[in-house]
Amino acid sequence: MPNYTIALAVLGSCLDAGQQGHLEGLIRPWFDAINNSHNPPIFARMNLDWGQNASSAAHSDLVIYFVPSSTESVIAGSPHFHGGVRTDLAGLTLHPPHANGQAASEVYVSEHNGSMTDMAITVFHEAMHNQLYLGDPMHSHGGAAGSPGTVPNADNITEMARHIRTRRHQWTGGWAVYQRLNADLDSDSSIPL
Ligand SMILES: [Zn+2]
Repeated sequence: MPNYTIALAVLGSCLDAGQQGHLEGLIRPWFDAINNSHNPPIFARMNLDWGQNASSAAHSDLVIYFVPSSTESVIAGSPHFHGGVRTDLAGLTLHPPHANGQAASEVYVSEHNGSMTDMAITVFHEAMHNQLYLGDPMHSHGGAAGSPGTVPNADNITEMARHIRTRRHQWTGGWAVYQRLNADLDSDSSIPL
C-alpha cells in the first residue's frame, strides 16, 4: 500500500520549528481522518514532510508552499499561472487546465496574524482546491471548503476521501521562483536612489 506524501515547503524561514510542530499537530488528525474513513485505510501512511526540495517533492502527492505574504506569491510567478481564484485572502492554489496539468498550493503566513488554527484551516482549504480540482465553486461546500472556512467537517473528510486517490501532478518550481524573487529584491535594494 503506498503512502500519501504532503510536501510542506517553508520559504523565507517564515515558520520556525516550533510553529511547524504546532501546525502539524493540528492538520495531521484531519488528514489521518481522511485516510481512516475507509477500512482498511486508503494509504499505508499520511506523510507530512517538511524537508522537501524541488526534486524530492516531484514524488509528493501534494505540495504546499508557505510564503511570508501574498506579495511573495510563488504561484503568481509560475509560468503556468494565468490569474485565478483570488477570493482566498490567505492562500492560493494553482490548478489546471494548463498545458502540463500541474497543481500546487501556497499559504500566506502573515495573513493569519499568528493564529495557527486559522493557518491549519487554510492549509486544508488549499489542499481541497488542489486535490478536488475545484476553483470558486468549492466555496459553497461549507466547513473548511468555505471562504473563510472553519475546521473540516464530516462532509469535507468524506469528499476528500472520495478523491484522494486521484493523482494530481504537483508544480515544484516554487523554490526556484522564490530564490529568483529574493535575488531581484536584493538587487533592487542596491540601486542607488
Ligand atoms: Zn478557496
